[in-house]
Amino acid sequence: MDLQLNDKVALVTGGSKGIGLGIVRQLIAEGVRVANVNRSEAEGKQLETEYSQQGKECLFIQGDLTDVTACERAVATTLERFGRIDILVNNAGVNDGAGLDAGPKAFVESLKKNLIHYYAMAHYALEALKDSRGCIVNIGSKVSETGQGETSGYAASKGAITALTREWAVDLAPRGIRVNAVLPAETWTPLYEKCLAAMDDPQLARNEIEQLIPLGHRFTTIEELADTVVFLASPRASHTTGQILFVDGGYTHLDRKCTQSASISDFGAAKK
Ligand code: NAP
Repeated sequence: MDLQLNDKVALVTGGSKGIGLGIVRQLIAEGVRVANVNRSEAEGKQLETEYSQQGKECLFIQGDLTDVTACERAVATTLERFGRIDILVNNAGVNDGAGLDAGPKAFVESLKKNLIHYYAMAHYALEALKDSRGCIVNIGSKVSETGQGETSGYAASKGAITALTREWAVDLAPRGIRVNAVLPAETWTPLYEKCLAAMDDPQLARNEIEQLIPLGHRFTTIEELADTVVFLASPRASHTTGQILFVDGGYTHLDRKCTQSASISDFGAAKK
């Protein structure tokens, strides 16, 4: 299937690592010119060089998205370089464990790391998206549905991201701008690896988590996540808006018996 993305321009937040990097790579493979705004410099610059050697564009824009002026600058720099924005992917975030005990200051800081820049990027990119009749893909989290415990700021942010996806889809439908969200549950990324590394037995924890994932008892890959994002961002998804897609191997919604022992998983109405 030709995704009809050739020569489009995408602005991706947090595109140097993990899910964001997967999205950047798949977009470029489809002929998209990408701007990647990221805090750390080394990987972003390396990515830019790697692609420029292949005659492809992956403009690195250094910025910490907790500062909304960095969001404004990222949009301006993308427009200076490419003259348009067809796709905005809001991806950067961190499960920072700001729980109920952490207090209001930590809660607000968590919203800055995970939520405010989603709004700021959409706000500053709005005119360009109107001009291109473009689209937005927001990366959320299953935490918005399931909770996790001890991470109020992150959960609140991800809940708001799901709500804003629907809100913006309504707002922007008259302009032909589509807005969708993709929600991972357990995707193997540097962020995830770092979280598990802090546990007593990371390998045991990994095995136990995998058992909870119905489809294949394995983590979702970055590429599986990215492929769904790229499809949603493409004109092939031209009548899809306001959707919240879980790319999670069934983790969030499927009957819990499919992650249990054989005797329980055999239980079912048809078999009685
Ligand atoms: P990751 O491996 O840590 O990669 C995130 C990237 O975003 C990094 O390059 C990071 O830069 C950048 N970034 C983060 N905060 C930033 C900021 N304030 N300013 C600029 N750049 C920033 O994370 P990931 O696992 O791919 O997660 C990506 C998204 O998926 C997040 O929104 C996360 O909540 C969501 N998610 C992931 C999972 C999962 O299983 N992995 C599950 C649910 C939701 P640095 O290198 O400077 O840190």
